[in-house]
Amino acid sequence: MLSLKDRIYTNSAIKAPPGSKVVVAGWVHRLRVVGKICFVILRDREGLIQVVIKRDKSPQMFDEASQLKQEDVIAVKGEIVPSKASIGGVDLVAEELVVLSKTIAPLPIFPDDWEKTSLAKRLDWRFLDLRSPRNLLIFRVQDKLENAMRHFYRENGFIEIHTSKLVAEATEGGAEVFPVIYFDKTAFLAQSPQLYKQMMVIAGFERVFESGPAYRAEKHHTPRHLTEYQSIDIEMGFIEGPEDVMDMVERATLRALSEVASSYSKLVKELLDVDITLPKEVIKIKLTDACRLIEGTPTPCPSNYDISTEHEKAIGEAVANEYGTDLFFITDYPWIARPFYTMKSDDNPEFTRSFDLIYKGVEIVSGSQREHRYSKLVEQMMEKGLRPEKFSFYLEMFKYGAPPHGGAGLGLERLTMTTLGLKNIREAKLLPRDPERLTP
Ligand code: ATP
Ligand code: MG
Repeated sequence: MLSLKDRIYTNSAIKAPPGSKVVVAGWVHRLRVVGKICFVILRDREGLIQVVIKRDKSPQMFDEASQLKQEDVIAVKGEIVPSKASIGGVDLVAEELVVLSKTIAPLPIFPDDWEKTSLAKRLDWRFLDLRSPRNLLIFRVQDKLENAMRHFYRENGFIEIHTSKLVAEATEGGAEVFPVIYFDKTAFLAQSPQLYKQMMVIAGFERVFESGPAYRAEKHHTPRHLTEYQSIDIEMGFIEGPEDVMDMVERATLRALSEVASSYSKLVKELLDVDITLPKEVIKIKLTDACRLIEGTPTPCPSNYDISTEHEKAIGEAVANEYGTDLFFITDYPWIARPFYTMKSDDNPEFTRSFDLIYKGVEIVSGSQREHRYSKLVEQMMEKGLRPEKFSFYLEMFKYGAPPHGGAGLGLERLTMTTLGLKNIREAKLLPRDPERLTP
């Protein structure tokens, strides 16, 4: 009797020596009956294999096989037989077939036909949509990106933390927060772990990182914004300037990209038609200089340097032309464009010790050195129209020994999207949330 304990994935099965007996299990990807032979392409997480069910061998098994439908779940025990025209050059000639689950309604979408289905419908039927090898690959790449970063930060002395996502005040300023009924109070979903990661550095953890959800009540519909995204945040103490943070972010990002390249570049090329190439160099360019590169174009920077998406895109193209790289830092953003906790530049308080990392014309990281001097911090808070008494838990931290520090936050879906050349960030989120979507 066939046992699922003996099951191997299809990618191992197609490599098994001819004559070996194997057990595979998965979904019916395609089915074809030709005379007395039934051909089933079986799909599992790792690939496809052609199963051949011959009437001569067992009429009963043949009858059962010919009634299968796409996406039924089956297990097969059989013999690996060379077959030039088949996937991987082999067939699995069935000796036993077990039907584990039958589809009981017509398929609303077809996993291998994802291109013909609108993104909205695909997201409505996400579990079927994700059965497409191409769509599953997006999340295997994402898993690689996140874990490469996790390993990198651990190796560099960062401690992983998990901070509360229920907060009393908006941290990043602005009105983009979700209120939550919290007993007899109103709380908010955290826009970022900003204040808490700073707290842990000041608490003496020195270097911390967190990969967790961040919530932004961004009402606008764009291909780059979700209302819930995964933020990979770092914060580090005893820095001399924002360059120390940039260095860490750069190395983590390159590490993540190179791990994806070495594990998945072939599959990504095959299923997404994208080359994962590592940038030769990651440059740093001051925002004012970056703006000079797009002077005289249809989208020049505004005079206050509060740049938007279209400027980032234009700067991305200009930098690629000028310096031959699509991964670079823009530094020294204006004070008006950054949150209250950002340290201002020494030479010009209109600018800040801050940076963004731009990849293929899209912002994937924002970071800065933080203001750690109590009186300056209070001043800056008031300048931004925030009420210091609302942030007393935070401000207290700066009265009892706060080292110079800085950090950054990276959007995991933004990185996935840019790495894989996806047109919409929703494709890079298992269960995207936007102003219209709360299900599945
Ligand atoms: P943008 O200007 O693109 O809206 P932001 O500057 O408001 O982003 P930050 O507060 O700097 O965002 O957040 C840090 C990082 O988190 C961004 O660089 C981006 O990668 C990611 N991020 C921010 N907001 C979103 C969002 N709504 N959806 C997905 N990722 C986001
Ligand atoms: Mg930003």
